[in-house]
Amino acid sequence: MEITKIMKFGGTSVGSPDKFRALIPLIDNGETNMVVVSAMSGTTNSLIEITDLMNCGETDKAKEKINILGQKYRQTVEDLFESKEFKHKGKEFVNLRFDLISEVVLDEYTKSKEKLVHAQGELLSTTLLHMLLTEKGINSTLLQALNFMRIDKDGEPDYYYIEENIKRELRKEPPSNIIITQGFICRNAYGEVDNLKRGGSDYSASIIGAVLNVKEIQIWTDIDGFHNNDPRYVENTSVIRELSFDEAAELAYFGAKILHPSSVAPARMKNIPVRLKNTMHPEDEGTIIVSEESFSDYKAVAAKDGITVIRIKSAHMLMAYGFLRKVFEIFEAYRTPIDMVATSEVSISLTIDDTSNLERIVKELKGLGMVSVEHDQTIVCVVGDFRPETRGSAPEIFEALDNITLKMICYGGSSHSLSLLIDTKNKVEALRQLSKNLFK
Ligand code: ADP
Ligand code: ASP
Ligand code: MG
Repeated sequence: MEITKIMKFGGTSVGSPDKFRALIPLIDNGETNMVVVSAMSGTTNSLIEITDLMNCGETDKAKEKINILGQKYRQTVEDLFESKEFKHKGKEFVNLRFDLISEVVLDEYTKSKEKLVHAQGELLSTTLLHMLLTEKGINSTLLQALNFMRIDKDGEPDYYYIEENIKRELRKEPPSNIIITQGFICRNAYGEVDNLKRGGSDYSASIIGAVLNVKEIQIWTDIDGFHNNDPRYVENTSVIRELSFDEAAELAYFGAKILHPSSVAPARMKNIPVRLKNTMHPEDEGTIIVSEESFSDYKAVAAKDGITVIRIKSAHMLMAYGFLRKVFEIFEAYRTPIDMVATSEVSISLTIDDTSNLERIVKELKGLGMVSVEHDQTIVCVVGDFRPETRGSAPEIFEALDNITLKMICYGGSSHSLSLLIDTKNKVEALRQLSKNLFK
C-alpha cells in the first residue's frame, strides 16, 4: 500500500461530533492517506488531572473526573452516530474503555500506569472516527500506533523499528484509502506505553511521514497556518505562506505552539514538505514548510516561557582554555540541554528549560566559580534575515524593546534568528511591541 500523504488532525479538529463529521470530505478524497489523530480537545488535560489527583491520593476526586469524562464521551457517541446500531456499538466501546480507565486508575494505580491513562484520549478518538466512517459506508483501516511507534532509551524515535513495524502492520491489512492511527502515543524501549510529550501528535505525523517517505505531511489545526506572532497574545497577526525547515524548527522550539518542537526534524531528514492547514477553511493554502530558504527582513516572533538562567563567574575563566568544556560537561552529565549562551571575559550565562537536575548541576558548577540562578525567564526568538552580508544590525528590534530589560542577547549564532532573554512578566508587552515595529 503506497501512502501519498500524512494528514494529522489536532484536538480541536475532532473536538465535537460536528468536527468529526467535517473531516469526512477531507480524508475521503480518492488518495491513499495516513490519518493521524489526536485526542478530542480537553481530553488529555483531563486524563492528566486524573493521574495528578491519584498521585496525591485524591481517589474520590479522580473518580468524579472519570465519571464526568465518561459522560462526555457517551454524549459524543449519542450525537455522533445516526443509526441505533452504531449508537449502541459506540456506547459499548466507550463503556469498555472507561471500565478499563476506572480499573487502572481506581483499583490498580501506580505512577507507572500514568502514561497508559494519558494514552486513552487518542485510543478513543481514532476508534470513534473509524466507526463513523464505517457507519457512513466508507472503508477505512485502524492501525494501532502501539504496535509500531517506539522510542529508544534516550526518548528518541527508533526509526528502524518504526519503519519495519508500520510496514508489517500495513501489509497485514486489506487495501484501504484511509488509514487511521493515533498520534502522541508510543511504546518505550521497555515495551511500556509512553508518549511523545504534549502536542506530540505533530511529531508522530512527521515520524510516520519520514519512514513512509510520503509526498507531504499535513498538520490540520484551528488556524490558517503559521502566524508571524503568537495570536494568543497579539492582535492582527498574519499568516506566513512559506517557511524553511530551519525557520520553522526554530520557531517551534522557541514556543510557537502550532508545531511540536521536534516535529520538523523527521520531515527535514527526508526533505518532505510540511503543510499547515485550517480544518475550518480547508480551501485556504495554509503555510508550506520546505527546504528552500526565502529571505525577508523579519518573518516571525515566538516566545518560550519557563526558562531559567544560570550565571557562572570565575576569575580565571576565558583566558583559561578548557573552562567552557568543563561547564558544558556538567550539563551533559545531567542530560540537560542548553538554549542560549553568552560569555564575557570573566563570566558565562546560559539558559535551560529542564530544571529537574538543577540542584545537582549548581552544586557541581560551584566548583568552577560563583553561581547564581534566576527563574521565570522567557526567550523571545525573532526569525528573519540575519545574514551578515545583508544586515549588520537589527535596530527595529531594539527600538521596539526600548522599555524592556534585556537579560541576554544571542546574535550571530544563526543567519536566520536572533534570540533575547527577558523576564516572563514582560513577555506580552515585548511580543506586542515587536509586532508593531517589525510587521507594520
Ligand atoms: P492542535 O490541537 O490542532 O494540535 P494547537 O493548539 O496545538 O492545535 O496549535 C494551534 C494553536 O497554536 C493555535 O490555535 C494558536 O493559538 C497557537 N499558536 C501559537 N503560536 C502560533 C503561531 N505562531 N502561528 C499559529 N498559531 C500559533
Ligand atoms: N493529545 C496530546 C496532547 O494534548 C497530543 C496532541 O494533541 O498532539 O498533548
Ligand atoms: Mg498541537
